[in-house]
Amino acid sequence: MRWSRYFWYTSKEDPADTEAPSHKLLIKGGFIKQVSAGVYEFTPPGVRVLRKIENVVRKEMDRSGAQEVLLTVLNPAELWKETGRWELYGRELFTLKDRNGRDYCLGPTHEEEITDLVRSFVNSYRQLPLILYQIQTKFRDEKRPRFGLIRGREFIMKDAYSFDADEFSAMMSYETMKFAYDRVFKKLRLKTLMVEASVGAIGGISSHEFVVLTDYGEARVAYCESCGYAANAEVVKLSKPQEEKEEERPLEQVETPSTDTIEKLSNFLGVPPRKILKAVLYIVDGLTPVMFIIRGDRNVDENKVSMVLGTENFRLAEDQELWELLRTKKGFIGPFNLNSSIKVYWDNSTYGVKNAVIAFNKPDYHYVNANPGRDFQYGEFVDVCQVEEGDPCPKCGASLRVSRGLEVGHIFLLGTRYSEPMRAYYKDPQGQEKPIIMGCYGIGISRCISAIVEQHNDERGIKWPTSVAPFELDLICVNPTDPQQKEVAEHLYLLSEEMGIETIYDDRDESPGFKFADADLCGFPYRIIVGKKVKEGKVEVQCRQTGEKWDVGIQEAIREVKKRIEEDKK
Ligand code: ATP
Ligand code: MG
Repeated sequence: MRWSRYFWYTSKEDPADTEAPSHKLLIKGGFIKQVSAGVYEFTPPGVRVLRKIENVVRKEMDRSGAQEVLLTVLNPAELWKETGRWELYGRELFTLKDRNGRDYCLGPTHEEEITDLVRSFVNSYRQLPLILYQIQTKFRDEKRPRFGLIRGREFIMKDAYSFDADEFSAMMSYETMKFAYDRVFKKLRLKTLMVEASVGAIGGISSHEFVVLTDYGEARVAYCESCGYAANAEVVKLSKPQEEKEEERPLEQVETPSTDTIEKLSNFLGVPPRKILKAVLYIVDGLTPVMFIIRGDRNVDENKVSMVLGTENFRLAEDQELWELLRTKKGFIGPFNLNSSIKVYWDNSTYGVKNAVIAFNKPDYHYVNANPGRDFQYGEFVDVCQVEEGDPCPKCGASLRVSRGLEVGHIFLLGTRYSEPMRAYYKDPQGQEKPIIMGCYGIGISRCISAIVEQHNDERGIKWPTSVAPFELDLICVNPTDPQQKEVAEHLYLLSEEMGIETIYDDRDESPGFKFADADLCGFPYRIIVGKKVKEGKVEVQCRQTGEKWDVGIQEAIREVKKRIEEDKK
């Protein structure tokens, strides 16, 4: 491809409002352009990268026996009503009506539609197992679209679904997908961590996420360097600590004005946060109050709360509700004198505390030196504590590391969550009707572009792994007005095309510095520079990943680059 004729425009300025390096580099490098919040279009080089990722994924899906389908973006509401998700999915669902007033949504995921497809053809155990997949645009009205392709409202996903007759067979499909995912991420040169994930409030049998460790991911992952355990932080179990050994001091009521945060209270009383028991009041399903008590130096993990409550539909009580329900205000909530309708859960972290500070629903007052058994009774213990660095590994007890992670893939053994309500049944060898056991498997194709850039960049730009680079080779003629240089460059361009190398020939009427800067920014794995040395029969070859530079004879240059490309792609 001659760059002078190609629709590719880079920018020398850093784009405004971009935090994540990948977001900045993809825009600056002219791969994507924003249309509205979380909605991006791809330019020709952007599409080249996208197709390469799709093809890596497609190849591994096909290899694992999955078959490609293409479902619709426009999903009729009826299917979503069969599983209850029309109401449950919430505000992320983009909905619309047709001219006759019928409801539709733009598919954010396709369990309903694929189940509908399968139930219309499959009715016997003989037709199972089956894995179907598609690569398609998804729509989710995300609350906080950000970081470019990382969290979009319109994005491209590979979603696969498995259908099996029994749980064992379903587990095999799940394992097959796990291996395929490993191969995909290796080929994409994405270093991922496979972590145990939550099966969610709706239930499921098993779930794993493939996570890239980066500051621009919104998942928190905990991992143990000593035994290899790795999990999404929300599923790491924290148990009760040892009981504290301390003499019990007499209980006191102390006036603590304006101490509405743990920090203020701790400073005011001169008591460390870990000795304060804080209470959090949630309103579940818009009406039921539920209280959680946790140690003052720890935070509540709302994903764990949703597992305890069995719903994601809860929120913190507002000031007015605190007043109506407890006659108190924020910072002064406690498990005392409660109306019996308010359920109280105690986080494991509160166990065995001595001489604690705790509020008792009297604004501007706290108990000091409160002791369990004597001054208050524990109720039901649960684990809703957010995992922190240094917490014990649930497998081996060593200190856990905690990092932010970007989920690029997710596999989920669903069971019969969709097949039951949608009556996707098959007949077993005895002729008995049974629900199909399902699994679903996603890869964020467009998110992978960003993830790859997050892991492969430097201060000058992107360093594409050869397997996904928009072009494998950038051919630069330093001085196109020099007839000899021009002739060599044209010759090498033709030769590279003949050799099947994907080449961008930078024949633009720009300075060498401009072209070199673009080459760094756009991240081509290899570069051939045709400059003054042609007089000695040489050109320079550069490798973006390693920074190596070397001179080669004109005749050998293309062959050498081709060899390196082949090696990279292995
Ligand atoms: P997240 O927790 O990041 O919102 P999710 O659990 O909602 O992800 P899934 O429903 O499992 O995601 O979707 C499968 C894959 O699709 C994810 O692993 C991720 O790579 C990708 N994905 C999900 N939401 C987005 C989005 N808004 N933009 C880009 N990719 C996304
Ligand atoms: Mg999501």
